[in-house]
Amino acid sequence: MKTETWCVDNTVELSTDNPHIIEAANLLKRGEVVAFPTETVYGLGANALSERAVEKIFVAKGRPSDNPLIVHIGSKEQLQDLVQSVTPHAHKLIEQFWPGPLTLVLPKKAAVAHNVTAGLESVAIRMPNHPVALTLLKAANVPIAAPSANLSGKPSPTEAKHVYADLAGKIAGILDGGVTGVGLESTVVDCTTELPIILRPGGVTKEQLEEAVDCEVLVDKALQHDVHIAPRSPGMKYVHYAPDAPLQIVEGDLAFIQAIVNDARKAGKRVGVLTTTEQVNKYEADAVLACGERKNLTSVAQQLFATLRSFNTYDLDVIFSESFPREGIGEAIMNRLTKAAGGHVIKY
Ligand code: AMP
Ligand code: MG
Repeated sequence: MKTETWCVDNTVELSTDNPHIIEAANLLKRGEVVAFPTETVYGLGANALSERAVEKIFVAKGRPSDNPLIVHIGSKEQLQDLVQSVTPHAHKLIEQFWPGPLTLVLPKKAAVAHNVTAGLESVAIRMPNHPVALTLLKAANVPIAAPSANLSGKPSPTEAKHVYADLAGKIAGILDGGVTGVGLESTVVDCTTELPIILRPGGVTKEQLEEAVDCEVLVDKALQHDVHIAPRSPGMKYVHYAPDAPLQIVEGDLAFIQAIVNDARKAGKRVGVLTTTEQVNKYEADAVLACGERKNLTSVAQQLFATLRSFNTYDLDVIFSESFPREGIGEAIMNRLTKAAGGHVIKY
């Protein structure tokens, strides 16, 4: 299949008359799969009301069919066609954070294709805050199921070229809207329970959620590193975000990490180090990459997935990553990094 790429200029006012948007929306309406930028990462979209269209997402990504997708909407009004009810907590969260990097899990209506939710009675929904995504959703005029636009198991794409590298020839088109903003996927919150439960940390933090709903917000037990508890969010159990070489997180200072690097190199390994601009010139290894600035965790989040992908060009045997404080967006950074490392953490 030929994959069309359309460059869309974000700096000008976008309308549903834009020829690239029309072409992409028409493909979606015809049941094809199209990648598009959002403020979190690039999504791989298909009509959420069509089981056949959604099936193409799973095929293109190689995604396990028991890992449900997030449905993206272009206006809050579309919600009523997709969910049985909107709880008072969900109402407050929508008012505060939509459009934005927050996904809500609610009881689903029958119109949502069965494979979108992997057979669950609940559906995950969000309204993204990105001009290209919103204009495309309005032009398509159907809810769009969209996971991240990467091959299953690889880091999520934050630029169109990442999508192209993973999915060229497998999807109908890619809308290129430049680099995404947040850089990590949305926060996922289960709103089917009495107290909201965070299923995946992301751009919206626990503190921000609690302030909006004015009650305690719980954190799913599977996120608290207890591997023996069955995850509530089915996608939690799979390998994610992995670079080609195995990644290990190191909790310790520069000298401790350099000693580990030295040992590995003495054993004949080619070694990568993931650090930040502050320390990038202080390590000796085969590839030392800066992922943002440590003093600005927002920049680390923005660059994390692209940095993980960059290591693949160095033919490494192992990558050691500095760890980050689990505060604010740091919670989401460490969640993704821990998954990329398959849970491997070396402690001082
Ligand atoms: P991705 O599309 O790769 O960003 O992943 C979507 C995330 O949302 C996965 O972690 C899914 O398990 C989660 N998710 C989607 N739908 C549901 C649902 N109905 N209940 C719980 N988690 C969900
Ligand atoms: Mg994903």
